[in-house]
Amino acid sequence: MLRRRAAGALMLAAIAGLTAACSPATGPSATTQADAPPSPPPIVIEHARVFDGERDLGEVTLVIRDGLIARVAQPGADDLPAEAERIDYRGRFIVPGLVNAHAHVGNTEGTAHGDRFYTRAHVVRDLRQFQAYGVTTVMSLGMNGAAFGDIRNAVSSDPSLGAQLLGAGGGIGAPGGAPPAANMGLTHDPVARPATAAAARDAVRAQAESGVDIVKLWVDTLGGQAPPMAPEVYRATIDEAHRQKLLAAAHIHDLAPATDLVASGLDIVAHGVRDRPVDPAFVAALRTSNAGYIATLQIDEANYIYAEHPEWLETPFLRNALPEAVRAQWSDPQWRADTLRDPQTTKARAALATNLRNLSTLREAGARIGFGTDAGALPRRVPGFAEHRELELMMQAGFSPQQALTVATRDSAHLLRLDDRGLLQPGRRADFIVVAADPLADIRNLRTIEAVWQAGRKVAGPVAEYRAP
Ligand SMILES: [Zn+2]
Repeated sequence: MLRRRAAGALMLAAIAGLTAACSPATGPSATTQADAPPSPPPIVIEHARVFDGERDLGEVTLVIRDGLIARVAQPGADDLPAEAERIDYRGRFIVPGLVNAHAHVGNTEGTAHGDRFYTRAHVVRDLRQFQAYGVTTVMSLGMNGAAFGDIRNAVSSDPSLGAQLLGAGGGIGAPGGAPPAANMGLTHDPVARPATAAAARDAVRAQAESGVDIVKLWVDTLGGQAPPMAPEVYRATIDEAHRQKLLAAAHIHDLAPATDLVASGLDIVAHGVRDRPVDPAFVAALRTSNAGYIATLQIDEANYIYAEHPEWLETPFLRNALPEAVRAQWSDPQWRADTLRDPQTTKARAALATNLRNLSTLREAGARIGFGTDAGALPRRVPGFAEHRELELMMQAGFSPQQALTVATRDSAHLLRLDDRGLLQPGRRADFIVVAADPLADIRNLRTIEAVWQAGRKVAGPVAEYRAP
């Protein structure tokens, strides 16, 4: 995926260079080095304690040049670039920006959701909120409207427009099945729904042609309520994705299809198994194929937790992430009572418990774990907050703060083959979060965000000043 995009960018740069060089309007001597914008001075960040995505480096100095980490120097190094802008983050903690490998954008407005909201303005609104909360890369995993490619191309190289966006386009679902068009508000359904293996290959080729970064599929009968995707259809989808040099990620809920998908070459299990405990066959399939597993613990909890009014509902860190209409809904006693009485709430509590137990089992078994939340798919899956809640829930599955942060940075980037980020090491993107309290001591300290840097620029912060539009 990176190879395709990097090659395309190089080609565009080459074409732009040729056009400029050959254009008569610019005159024979117009295109010189002097016309190129001057490279901004390097930036030296001093005195912060840095967790680089895998190790606590203690207090080090970061040298940033051209949007990348150029060097990690020991404190007091006397050979730092003299022309650098120097920033003192004494007493602060720096960790890599979070990489959300399962999110959605442009799908909500107030308490409503659906593909009618998929506009550039709504996508940018979500990307900015993710970024303000420290999420600097977002993989929008399906249900992206027809404008996805244009919006992605327009926003993904400008860090001032929010987290860097990657995505799956519409994705591949089952005819009349998941994702449920009516429940998800898909009036102009962007999801391809092939009925045969040949149609699945055509759909994947069309999405690859349109420039998607990944192929998403849904394999879920929604508790027996929806027709399944036939195995020959999902096998063809995965195989064709690989022929197109793309990863395949699947929405699942139940163990049986998840096991067969992994055995069929799936790269990313994009939700946790929630119908039963994972068994040795699934663990073995994951370990043999090295597929990644993203639990999205937060999604089932989000179905009921806000109706319970936990004391943290009133914290500014959450409240500031909510549109006014959502705050009003969550304060409504009738909505709260109806939500808690809903039989789905009982199922959601059980699903979270199963998801936590399975994630714990897979962690102990050494399975490859990625980070995602499904934030942005529905109004209760709150961009930015969802990621911090997911990290906190990971503590209940036995992760240490350091392990959870490694999953959400280094491992999630690697799972998406984004080997230019996820670690604060020389040559990688300077995407990082500056926080006031030690997140390795308590993962909730990651909420004390003072600044967010993306591609070597300070783009957001402090989070306490952020207000959802
Ligand atoms: Zn999703």
